[in-house]
Amino acid sequence: MFIDELDRFGAEDVQLCYQCGDCSTVCPHADEVYKFPRKSMRLLQMGLEQKLETTLEPWLCYYCGQCSEQCPRDADPGETMMSLRRWLISRYDFTGISRMFFKSRITEVLAIIAVALLTGAFLIYYGLSGGSISIYDGEGAFLPSTFIHRFDLTIGAILLVFLVLNAIHMWYLVMIKGTPFNVPWWLYLKELYQLPWHFFTQKRYADCEKKREHKVYMPWLLHLGLMLGYVTMLLLVMVFIEQLQAGPAILWRVHIFGYLASVGLIAGTIYFIRSRFKKHYIQYKKSHGTDWVFVTLLFIIVVTGIAQHVFHRTGLYEPANITYVIHLMSVVPWLLRMPFSKWAHLIYRPLAMYFSAVRREALMRQVSILNSYPVVVK
Ligand code: SF4
Ligand code: SF4
Repeated sequence: MFIDELDRFGAEDVQLCYQCGDCSTVCPHADEVYKFPRKSMRLLQMGLEQKLETTLEPWLCYYCGQCSEQCPRDADPGETMMSLRRWLISRYDFTGISRMFFKSRITEVLAIIAVALLTGAFLIYYGLSGGSISIYDGEGAFLPSTFIHRFDLTIGAILLVFLVLNAIHMWYLVMIKGTPFNVPWWLYLKELYQLPWHFFTQKRYADCEKKREHKVYMPWLLHLGLMLGYVTMLLLVMVFIEQLQAGPAILWRVHIFGYLASVGLIAGTIYFIRSRFKKHYIQYKKSHGTDWVFVTLLFIIVVTGIAQHVFHRTGLYEPANITYVIHLMSVVPWLLRMPFSKWAHLIYRPLAMYFSAVRREALMRQVSILNSYPVVVK
């Protein structure tokens, strides 16, 4: 049954829901057009899989946990929305890899180890075939920056192909299959600003506090810091790797962004690991296996990245090269895993905000057209 399948994605208590609607009343993001989480709970209880895959509601939830706190039946609607997001990621992914990872932690961990070992073997083979472990950059380097640049761009291109194809699939499901009225093309242009706006501000996360008496903005700020840190680092690595790797002198106009990004990544990673251990907020009470894989990999990337930088800048080139290999052994599976993991929400969430705005506008137009027809009273 569909509901049992969702159990594997983390939705364990859906059957407890008796549709009182308290969760939708308390939710800071639900409104007359997007009614959740009650509606999503209902669709799930009824096993309407085809309908659920075309909905945007799971992406409009930012898991503030207020609905779960309010639920009189402990049906945990907040966690159900989270599970639906995992499930949707697996639906958008046409390869089926995501589904495998979400359903089996062992498979995911083995795939990560396999990619890490292949990456390590390739880098060591390349390094030893033309360079020396005691040279960090330039002539005879173990991993010259020109080679790393090409390597990064190749991984980035693979990542982009999967993300774009999955995003197109998402668009098809929600805007074609799931929208039963006409959406004028120009609405896509009109609402386009929603994409960068939500991507760079995550403002909706901050809006989670709008109904609370005591507002706490720290989770939003740390989430934002983590996201901006990640994006900045990705950009630096893809475009400015040669400047980053030059040295040992520090190139401040490039490195300053790397340091700021590192601060965001460290703060966000420590916060999320600590929260998952302490479980002091309702949204961290349950952790899916993939959540632990996510924070563990990120932690290894951050620590090895900093260690490698310190070794390089202090002239310890052998440890710098070795740590660099270990760093890339965690970065490559991390990046390649992105389109199939929770981290894909970096793309799907802004897209969902954009699509939801377009759909809302199209719906309003439809309603006003219908209202404009004269009513004939006989
Ligand atoms: S999830 Fe809980 S609060 Fe929401 S409708 Fe069901 S029983 Fe009511
Ligand atoms: S977790 Fe928060 S945003 Fe998500 S459905 Fe519940 S109340 Fe709404």
